[in-house]
Amino acid sequence: MTPANTPVASPRPSACPGLWRIVSARDGGICRIKLPGGLLLADQADAVAAAAERFAGGVIEATNRGNLQIRGIGSDHAGLVECLLAAGLGPRDAASDDVRNLMLSPLAGHDPSMLLDVRPLAGQILDLLQGTPRFHELSAKFAVQLDGGEGVAMLDHPHDLWLSALRLEQRDWLAFGLASCPADGQVLGAVPLEQGLALVRAVLDRFLDLASPEQSRMRQLLQGCPAEVFINSLGVQIRRDTAVLEWHRQAAEHPWLGAVTQRDGMALGVAPPLGRLSPAMLRGAARVARQWGDGSLRLSPWQSLMLTNITAAGLEQARAALSALGLLCQADEPLARMVACTGSSGCAKGLAETKADAVELAALLGSGAPGSVHLSGCPRSCAVAHVAPATLLARAPGRYDLYLRDAHLPGLGALRGTDLTLNEAGAMLALPTEHLDD
Ligand code: SF4
Repeated sequence: MTPANTPVASPRPSACPGLWRIVSARDGGICRIKLPGGLLLADQADAVAAAAERFAGGVIEATNRGNLQIRGIGSDHAGLVECLLAAGLGPRDAASDDVRNLMLSPLAGHDPSMLLDVRPLAGQILDLLQGTPRFHELSAKFAVQLDGGEGVAMLDHPHDLWLSALRLEQRDWLAFGLASCPADGQVLGAVPLEQGLALVRAVLDRFLDLASPEQSRMRQLLQGCPAEVFINSLGVQIRRDTAVLEWHRQAAEHPWLGAVTQRDGMALGVAPPLGRLSPAMLRGAARVARQWGDGSLRLSPWQSLMLTNITAAGLEQARAALSALGLLCQADEPLARMVACTGSSGCAKGLAETKADAVELAALLGSGAPGSVHLSGCPRSCAVAHVAPATLLARAPGRYDLYLRDAHLPGLGALRGTDLTLNEAGAMLALPTEHLDD
C-alpha cells in the first residue's frame, strides 16, 4: 500500500483526528500529525508551518501526547496531506497512522537521571505497531508509554500499557502496568529489558484476542477480566516478587521549562501559550534549533517543546530568541500555568471561550497563579489526560465551576465554587492552599 492510499476501516472506528482523518470542527478541519517519540526535525517544523499557512488558518497546536495538530483546514485535504507526507511526517503505510501512540520523555536519551536510553526499544515498538497489520485494529486512542527513569517525565497520564525502567541486581528491567500510570504505583510485574518488545507484542495480541469491538481501551477490558488473569495468559515469563511489586517510580524532579541540564549538555524547554503555535513561532523555534541546538525539537506531554543539545555559548541567545517569538521560557510565567481546551470558538461542545478566559485569568492572577489551572469547555476535558490541581469547568460564557484535585475523590476533585465569574474564580485561586501545588 502506498502512503497516499486511504486507510482501511478499523473495527474500532475513531472520531479522533489523524493524518488522513481530517475532523471537522467549528473553526475548520483538524489534522493530527503523530511524531515518533515526539521528535520533530527542524525541516519538518518548517513544512508544518508552511502547510498550516497554505492549507489552513495558521493555527498549530501541541497536544498533550507530544504530537502536533493543524486547525482551521480548508477544502484541500489532499494537498495538505501530500505536503506533510513529503516532509516525512506520515506513517510507514496509511493503515498504521492511528497506532503510532508511544509516549517518551522529551529528554529520552539525554536525561541525567535516566536508567536507560529507551530510544532503541522505542524504535522497535513503533516498528512493531506499524509493521503488524493486526495491530492496526487497535483504537486510535490505545497508547503505550515507555519511561526510562528520566527526571523530565510525565508520570500522571494514564496509558493502556506503560513500561518503566528499574534496575535490580545490576540488571535492567522494565516494570509495567495496565490502564494506569507510573505515578499510581500499580506495578503488575517486570521483564528483563531484552524481553520488553516481546511483552508489548504479547499484551497487544492478548488484548485483541479478548476485547470485543466495543472495548477499545485496556480499562474497558479489565472491567471484566482481572489484570492478573490477563497477564497470566500472556505466555511471557514475568517477575512478580516483592522487589518488583513494591517498587515505586521516583517522582520526576526536573522542570520542563527553561534551561534543563542534560547528561551531555543543556536543553531548553519552551511552551507556546495555551499550546498554540503560530507558523512564525514554529519556524523560529526550528531556526534556533538549527543555530544553537542539534536541529531537532521534541514535543512534550505538557504541550511544550524541548530543544536538545544547545551549546553553552548559545544558551542565552537561544532563550532570548525563543522568548521574542512569544514562547514561554519560565515556569513561573502565569500563562505557563494555564491549560485550556479549544473552547467555544473552535468546538461546538464548548460552553465558554476557554482560551480567551485563560489569558484573562492569568492576567488577574499574575505571579500569584497556582501550580496549574485547567479551563475546560465541557466535561470531556480534552486538554489534559490527568486531573489538574485546579479545574474550571465551564457552565456558560465566562462562568465556571471550580474543582480542586483531591486524591480521595473521583473525577475532577472537590467542588469549591459554582457558577463563578473569572474574577471570583481568580480570587479563590489566589488563596494559599496546599491543593494547588502541582
Ligand atoms: S473539552 Fe469539550 S469544549 Fe473543550 S475541546 Fe473538548 S469537547 Fe470541546
